[in-house]
Amino acid sequence: MVAGAGAFLRGQGSLQHDLVIGLIALILLLTVFYVDAFTKIEGAIAVLYVIALLLLSEVVTRRALMAMAILCAALAIFAFLFSHGIDPGIQPTLRLTVSLAALAITTALLLRNDTFRSELLASNAALRESEGRYRSIFDNTKVALWEHDYSRVRSHLMELKLQGVTDLRVHVRSNPGAATQCMDMISTVAANEAAYELLGPHAGDGGPGTLRRYVASDDETFIDLMQAILDGAEHFEGKGTVTTDGGEKRLVLLSIGLPDDASTFNRVVVGMIDITQREMTQKALNEAQAELTRAARAATVGALSASLAHELNQPLGAIGVNAQTLLRWLDRDPPDLAAVRKSAERIIRDGQRASDIIQNTRSMLTQNTNESEWIDLYALIDETTRLMEHDLQRDAVVVDIHRNTRIPSVKTVRIELQQVLINLMTNAVQAMSSVDAAPRTIVIDVAPRTDEIVSIVVRDNGPGIAADARDKVFAPFYTTKASGMGMGLSICRSTLEARGGKLEGYNHPEGGAVFEITLPLEDLHE
Ligand code: ADP
Repeated sequence: MVAGAGAFLRGQGSLQHDLVIGLIALILLLTVFYVDAFTKIEGAIAVLYVIALLLLSEVVTRRALMAMAILCAALAIFAFLFSHGIDPGIQPTLRLTVSLAALAITTALLLRNDTFRSELLASNAALRESEGRYRSIFDNTKVALWEHDYSRVRSHLMELKLQGVTDLRVHVRSNPGAATQCMDMISTVAANEAAYELLGPHAGDGGPGTLRRYVASDDETFIDLMQAILDGAEHFEGKGTVTTDGGEKRLVLLSIGLPDDASTFNRVVVGMIDITQREMTQKALNEAQAELTRAARAATVGALSASLAHELNQPLGAIGVNAQTLLRWLDRDPPDLAAVRKSAERIIRDGQRASDIIQNTRSMLTQNTNESEWIDLYALIDETTRLMEHDLQRDAVVVDIHRNTRIPSVKTVRIELQQVLINLMTNAVQAMSSVDAAPRTIVIDVAPRTDEIVSIVVRDNGPGIAADARDKVFAPFYTTKASGMGMGLSICRSTLEARGGKLEGYNHPEGGAVFEITLPLEDLHE
């Protein structure tokens, strides 16, 4: 029977309580019926059924309540007919009407009340669910979340604003205790697991003034946060330092959503990410980078000194040879003054060249770029061949310049391009010195490659680049020569690349090495 009653009950209270209420309501209902049907009391007794309905509404379902309301109405009509027969008279009929109306209105109100209650319960359940979800996010996220009550400090800041304070940093400078005062108005509401991990076991301790344990009173980020509240900002982000319960300093990234509504400043969530490790890594990275730059600079200086020594070798050697020749002409009896003069002029020319090289290297060191100028390539090649005259004659090398009808003119730094040519020709001479076959020839071919590129090919008929050296010849300090430095080709390539050009090396199918310079062409002269 109890199980059957369960189908009509709401089941919100204990079953025993519901059954007691139901029993009282039933006794009341039967009592009202008895008085209404079997006593002579005049009055709208049936109205008292309302009390039974009110009692039942607390414990029974909507359907059961409606059924009980219909039962009450039926009992009232039955008692009316039983007491007054088929000719009841106007007074009893009016009383019945009042009772039935009271029952109908009460039932309608109770049902409406029930609807409201169900809606309220549903929205409470939804609220609980969303609170639960928020709690779960709050508790489980890896971001440290620290919930604070900022309502007092906000009111205080608004008062300051009314007094004309606009810049809190200035205000704090003239009122040294102001920041601490603000801090003491903030109390901690809650902290999640990550916040406990970051700050220590007391992170969630409430009570005003607890913040002072974690944030220094002169912390600029804290002042900036207060300024953001003063300005009515919606969001605050910053980098700050917190001191943990263990006394350790941690650098944190702060993110705080500030509410629009003043009433919700009692639960402001401060999001914190520990970036101490990241900052330390960044610092180490910066230091490593600086170290690398220093090392690179040292390497550049080393490479430049090697380059200088390498480049100066040629003019200094030529000066030495010409000075010896000059002495020989002087020692003649009588001295051949015309030849002496010629040797002296060559010494001056090579001296000038050495000076140009030093100048060029110095401007490279000081990042100064040399002036570009229009260069007639054939004129430059002729001049370079004259400079190399001594080496060429000594090794019996012939220079064969293939002249094209269209002579390209390029805009580049003269001394640099000449240096590249000297390097390539010197390498060719040195490579051919190991070969007895005559004639030793350097072929220089200048030709426009495309409308925008000109190529200068320097080819020799030496042994060619060794098979295992093909990939390495442009690497700095790679050399196969006993007294070589291995800097020439590497410098030539980087010099040309800095001007938008290229340098490639390969072997010719008919033998010998080919080094091909390509330069961007600025203009073509017929
Ligand atoms: P270095 O002349 O001091 O050795 P380079 O950078 O000018 O330095 O040349 C690197 C290497 O490339 C040389 O040692 C040589 O092995 C190779 N090489 C350069 N030019 C030629 C060439 N014309 N024929 C054959 N091998 C060459």
